[in-house]
Amino acid sequence: MAAGKERPQAVAEPEPAVEEPRSFKDLGVTDVLCEACDQLGWKTPTKIQVEAIPVALQGRDIIGLAETGSGKTGAFALPILQALLETPQRLFALVLTPTRELAFQISEQFEALGSSIGVHTTVIVGGIDTMSQSLALAKKPHVIIATPGRLVDHLENTKGFNLRALKFLVMDEADRILNMDFETEVDKILKVIPRDRKTFLFSATMTKKVQKLQRAALKNPVKCAVSSKYQTVEKLQQYYIFIPSKFKDSYLVYILNELAGNSFMIFCSTCSNTQRTALLLRNLGFTAIPLHGQMSQNKRLGSLNKFKAKARSILLATDVASRGLDIPHVDVVINFDIPTHSKDYIHRVGRTARAGRSGKSITFVTQYDVELFQRIEHLIGKKLPAFPMQEEEVMMLTERVAEAQRFARMEMREQGEKKRSRNDDDDDTEEALGVRNKVAGGKKKKRKAF
Ligand code: AMP
Repeated sequence: MAAGKERPQAVAEPEPAVEEPRSFKDLGVTDVLCEACDQLGWKTPTKIQVEAIPVALQGRDIIGLAETGSGKTGAFALPILQALLETPQRLFALVLTPTRELAFQISEQFEALGSSIGVHTTVIVGGIDTMSQSLALAKKPHVIIATPGRLVDHLENTKGFNLRALKFLVMDEADRILNMDFETEVDKILKVIPRDRKTFLFSATMTKKVQKLQRAALKNPVKCAVSSKYQTVEKLQQYYIFIPSKFKDSYLVYILNELAGNSFMIFCSTCSNTQRTALLLRNLGFTAIPLHGQMSQNKRLGSLNKFKAKARSILLATDVASRGLDIPHVDVVINFDIPTHSKDYIHRVGRTARAGRSGKSITFVTQYDVELFQRIEHLIGKKLPAFPMQEEEVMMLTERVAEAQRFARMEMREQGEKKRSRNDDDDDTEEALGVRNKVAGGKKKKRKAF
């Protein structure tokens, strides 16, 4: 089926609910799955679940517009599991998602909700051995959670594997799947799955491309939206700081000291700046860990798990982590490098102030970023206050920060040389720290002050 050849279809709005349903049972969820929700501590359905689950249980296609952390995985997983209970079948549902981490996260929720009914899921993502994935596919799981590229790889090359009996297709973070040029892969997938299926398309933002896809893949869909245009949550205190570019590192260290005791996510624009800043902070005694696309899949999951388990208080990431990742305890989001796409701002700051908690975000604005920052303020419809700072205290840090910068640069060079000689893609932050300790020697005690 070629995208664009389908006739555009009207999107129906759901009927307004007469009375707010208070339980999953009220939404029509079957007892065994209600118990599973209860066991996960899900007492009442979230807004997107209230909107989407009854419609999905009626067998309609859905376009779900919901903010990150809204419970949207449950909104599509519960109706799929319920349908699976009614008509058990292998290779029943496919969830497409843009990043590997999200795929694992979604699979965890399917497993948790479906454990009592014996659901088998398989994650098919890049960066992991294809042979073991082929073996997992040969066992015909009920639900496959995949990034599009690797799935196409298996559809084309894994003998005996096909999705001709598929009943449900979910596209999670759909706008991103398209932005990241997965369009060709998605079209290939749409060609080899039955037209007679249910399709759920979930996205935090609705772009023109998503509208195009909706025409290609959905039948008479119902739109379930819980957020009005690009809102950020109320309990989020958003600030900016306007600073000279050359002192960014010192300001970062100042803020981390000021807000010590919190957990931080710091967003950088490139893999190499993420790595460099992680090394810099570690040289100053902070427990910082990087997460970016040039790390191996194992290291990425390892970083995320260490941060989730609170073994590290600072996660430095590229936008690979800005969407959909469920990291409940982030207190402060720092936009160390301002996002070039304003919508990414919403996704990044959406990492904090989740599930009714409060949180802070601080955006670094240098002399080069003013226009981008104005665009962000325009998008969210408000002027942000400046984060209060003592400039003199920041300046007192510059010498120690400069020293740590030198070590970080040296470590980056050493890692680069090692990588070239080993010709692999491993991240060596932990090893590099060992190198730094040797190099820095007696300076370690002084840095502990941070
Ligand atoms: P998601 O938006 O799907 O990534 O979900 C965000 C978080 O909310 C996950 O940790 C879910 O386990 C949790 N969650 C989903 N539905 C509910 C619910 N009804 N009550 C409480 N927590 C929920």
